[in-house]
Amino acid sequence: MKLLCPICNEKLVKVDRQARCANNHSFDYAKQGYLNLLIKQSVDHGDNKEMVQARTQFLNSGGYAFLKQELVNLTKKYDSHVLCDLGCGEGYYTSGFQAEEKYGFDMSKEALKHASKNDPSTQYAVASIFRLPLEDASCDTAVTCFAPFAKDEIERVLTQGGRFFFVSPGPKHLFELKQLIYDTPYENEMKDLETTLVKEEEYFISNTFHCEKENLISLFKMTPYYHRTRNEDIDKINHQDGMDITAEFLIRVYQKR
Ligand SMILES: [Zn+2]
Repeated sequence: MKLLCPICNEKLVKVDRQARCANNHSFDYAKQGYLNLLIKQSVDHGDNKEMVQARTQFLNSGGYAFLKQELVNLTKKYDSHVLCDLGCGEGYYTSGFQAEEKYGFDMSKEALKHASKNDPSTQYAVASIFRLPLEDASCDTAVTCFAPFAKDEIERVLTQGGRFFFVSPGPKHLFELKQLIYDTPYENEMKDLETTLVKEEEYFISNTFHCEKENLISLFKMTPYYHRTRNEDIDKINHQDGMDITAEFLIRVYQKR
């Protein structure tokens, strides 16, 4: 196990239903299997139950299955021994990756309950991706899908030669949905990552799929726009029948050299 104690940074070892460090700090495995390695829990920053349900409903409809397939194939090209997924959510992508050891981190306990129930192949842990409870140079593969780029931590936990896969929405991602809601929809900006990692490859993938009426609102809730959109604009989705939606993604592959 590559996990570290969030209190003293010593290695964690699994003892019965607990993960313990040499200084006797202990963390219980939840009944679903995930660990809570977040020390300060006064505020829950992670996605709530409603959000997790919306995302699960949409992802189960298969709208993003092409991205999952692409990512799984891409990571398979390189031999993954230890993989970490930063901002893994419900583990939709994490569950598909092949590696001897897999770790998924997210701030949302609700998301990880779901993830660990459905994917025993990954050790999920509640933690900030900006303070990963992982050993230095412990992973040869790191993935971030639609979560912020945790530069320092990714550079730290990757092995020499290890690879980082970063997925972000393309310029016209969900543009039909934006057109429905906004008078002047904007395209997403594509910014280069500032990092010491070296960019090796870049893939641009796109797919248009039919989104049923009941999945449209779930899809919209998954976007960062949801929380800054007026109710009357959100209501336009409720009056919309199913429609064709284009999903566009940029997958960037970096290597630590
Ligand atoms: Zn400790």
